[in-house]
Amino acid sequence: MSSETDLAGTRNLLLGLSLELGKPGNRLAILGEGNTSALVDDDTFLVKASGSQLGTLDLRQLPQVRFDRILPLLDQESDEEATEAALLAALIDPDAPRPSVETAFHAWLLQQEGVNFVGHTHPVEVNKILCSDKAELFARRRLFPDEVVCCGRQSLLVDYANPGADLARAIRSGWEQFTGETGLAPKLILLRNHGIIAVGSTPGSVLATTAVAVRRRRYSTALMLWARWSSWPPKRWSVSITAWTKSTAGNSLTGTKALWSVSSAGVPFTKGSPWDETGGLRLARWATPGGAGPFESSRGIEQLAGG
Ligand SMILES: [Zn+2]
Repeated sequence: MSSETDLAGTRNLLLGLSLELGKPGNRLAILGEGNTSALVDDDTFLVKASGSQLGTLDLRQLPQVRFDRILPLLDQESDEEATEAALLAALIDPDAPRPSVETAFHAWLLQQEGVNFVGHTHPVEVNKILCSDKAELFARRRLFPDEVVCCGRQSLLVDYANPGADLARAIRSGWEQFTGETGLAPKLILLRNHGIIAVGSTPGSVLATTAVAVRRRRYSTALMLWARWSSWPPKRWSVSITAWTKSTAGNSLTGTKALWSVSSAGVPFTKGSPWDETGGLRLARWATPGGAGPFESSRGIEQLAGG
């Protein structure tokens, strides 16, 4: 196979990945959000053009770029003008469109072992967590086996940095610290108040990591404490850990599964008990015949499950 054939094949694969990530129904990116890249050879890679949209991308909007013009941006203080000049100088075809402003982190990630494709998106579901104080728990905790397979045992969480060289440097230092501490390379990078980056050897692995990260956000685990009593302390109680999925819209439960429960007198988990879509640690006290009305209090599940 000639190198032109390789290049065309890689460009087609990257286009397919980009179009899939950009499908409106996936809610991963709107307008110019998100970008993708693919390794071509030791010297060059393909990256989404600035101003283009993932969902409507065409082959011409995936310019081929030289590593040696982009990587130095991570080690020097460059103003906007110098960055712009480096992006244009990196183009193999000078008439190709300007590479994305995020090209620097793509270049650095594509230098890492086993990383041939990179997909960066702004998933609505995941950003709900990344824009909250639960991001760390979401990065560290795993809820189901596919998540470990596709997203790794932990995700790398990177604090907010301005797009461009600042973000690339933050990702580099986070990656180096992560691999130093865990001995593993991240598969999923979570950017606080921004979005996610999935890396992999194939477009399929990038798609799988992205899809599982979003699915994880729809899973929740809660510790549910039920108390039914006519006087304090309760004579009968039960505690259950229950997992459930949310609908895509996040406004209703689509499935529940009791994982574990224990009670004072074999009291089974009560269906139809007062829980809502956010679940949580909930204490419920019910009126006894002729007694006062219901009283309840709850805490959000994110403190318990991170998602
Ligand atoms: Zn972004």
